[in-house]
Amino acid sequence: MGSSELRSPALKLSIACPKLTPAASTFPAAASNYYQLDELLTEEENDLQMNVRQFMEKEVAPIIPKFWEKAEFPFILFQRWGYGCPGLSGTAHAMCFLEIARVDASIASFFLVQSCLAMLSIAQLGSEAQKEKYLRSLSKMHKALTEPNHGSDASSLSSTARKVPGGWILNGQKRWPANGSFADVFVVLACNTSNNQINGFIVNGGSPGLKISKIENKTSLRVVQNCDILLEDVFVPDDDRLPGANSFQDLVKLATDIGSFSRVIVAWISIGIAAGVYDACLRYLGERKQFGAPLAAFQLNQEKLVRMLGNIQAMWLLGWRLCKLHDSGRMTTGQASLGKAWITKQARETVALGRELLGGNGIVTDFHVGKAFCDMESIYTYEGSYEVNVLVAAREITGIASIRPTSRL
Ligand SMILES: Cc1cc2nc3c(=O)[nH]c(=O)nc-3n(C[C@H](O)[C@H](O)[C@H](O)COP(=O)(O)OP(=O)(O)OC[C@H]3O[C@@H](n4cnc5c(N)ncnc54)[C@H](O)[C@@H]3O)c2cc1C
Repeated sequence: MGSSELRSPALKLSIACPKLTPAASTFPAAASNYYQLDELLTEEENDLQMNVRQFMEKEVAPIIPKFWEKAEFPFILFQRWGYGCPGLSGTAHAMCFLEIARVDASIASFFLVQSCLAMLSIAQLGSEAQKEKYLRSLSKMHKALTEPNHGSDASSLSSTARKVPGGWILNGQKRWPANGSFADVFVVLACNTSNNQINGFIVNGGSPGLKISKIENKTSLRVVQNCDILLEDVFVPDDDRLPGANSFQDLVKLATDIGSFSRVIVAWISIGIAAGVYDACLRYLGERKQFGAPLAAFQLNQEKLVRMLGNIQAMWLLGWRLCKLHDSGRMTTGQASLGKAWITKQARETVALGRELLGGNGIVTDFHVGKAFCDMESIYTYEGSYEVNVLVAAREITGIASIRPTSRL
C-alpha cells in the first residue's frame, strides 16, 4: 500500500505499509461489523482499513506477542513501515488506528504519540523553520508533559526553563514519554523561571544532561518503551523554543485543538482492542469444547458475546460521529472527552468479558486476549484518565468546573 492521502484540516498522518509477504495469518477473522458499519465509510476509507488490516494480520500478529513478552520494540517492522505526514480525514485516521489496535495496542500507541501528540505540537506551536526541520524529517519524536509528581494536574508542572544568552537551561523530571529510549527529539514543557508561564522546547535525544531510563516491569503496552527522563542543566538553543507555547493558556488551546482529536483516536484504539478480543473469542468459543459441546453453545457465554458485540457497535457509532463532528470543525472539547471516557469504559468491560470467556487461556498471550486485556488498562488512563475526561465533559455541560478542589479540610 502506498501512503494514502485524504484531506484533513487539522490532522495529518501517513501509514505507508510495505508490500505484503505471503506469510500465513493465524489472527482470527474480523467479525464485529454486525450492523454493516462499513457502509458508513467512503470507498477510500474502506480500502485503507482493509490494507492496514491485511498488513497487521499477516505481518504483525505472528511476531508481536514475543516482543510484548520481552518488552522490546519491533524495530524490524519500522524499517519497512514508513510514517510521515500527508493528510487523512479523521475517519480514515480512525480506521487505521482501529485496525492497528485490533492486533496490537502498543503499535497504535507508538503512532499516536508520534503523530498526534509530538508532531502536531510542533505543527501548532512551532516556527516555520522548526516545522520545516522537524516535520519533514522522519525523526522519532515524543511529547514529555507528565512528571513523576504531576500527572492529571499538568498545570502544576515543576520542570523549569531559565533564560541564558543564546538559549535556555532546562531542569526537571518527566515520566512516561513513550519510546523515550530511542527518540530523536522530545517536545518538553517546562515553566519559564522569569514569568512562571509554561513554555515548550524541542530537546534533542542526545543533549548533554539528558538522562533517560526505561520504566521496567510494566504489565501493559509492554512493547512501548516508556521512560523516566531527568533534565540536568540541559541547554536548548533559542531556535528550539516553540514560539507558540508561552503560557498555560497556550497549552489549554493545544489540548483543545490537538488533544481533543487525540482523545478521539485513543477511543478508536480501544474500539480496535475490543474488536480484536471479540474476534478471538468468537473463534475460540466455536473451537473449544466442554461438557461435550462447543463453549459457544452455552447460554451464559452467548450473553457475554452478545454484550461484547453490542458494546462494539455502540462504541463504533459514537466514535464515527465524533470523527464527523471533528472533520466539520464542530466537535467540542467536552464531546471528545465524553467519547474517550465512555468508549474506553465500554471497551474495558468488553475485554474483561473476553478474558472471562477464555478461562485460564485468557491470561496468557498466546490467545491474544490476555495481552489485549492488559493493554486496555493503559488506554483507560492515558490521554486523560477516565475520571478527568468525565470531569471535562461535566464542566462543559454544567458550566461548573470541579476538577480542582476549592477548599481543604
Ligand atoms: C502507557 C502510558 C503511556 C503514557 N505516555 C505518555 C506520554 O507519551 N507523554 C506524557 O506526557 N504522558 C504520558 N503518560 C502519562 C499519562 O498521561 C498519565 O498517566 C495520566 O495523565 C494520569 O496521570 P497519573 O498517572 O499521574 O495519575 P494521577 O494524576 O496521579 O491520578 C491518579 C488517579 O486519581 C484520579 N484523579 C486525578 N485527579 C482527579 C480529579 N481532579 N478528580 C477525580 N479524580 C482524579 C485519576 O483519574 C486516577 O484515577 C502515559 C501513561 C501511560 C500509562
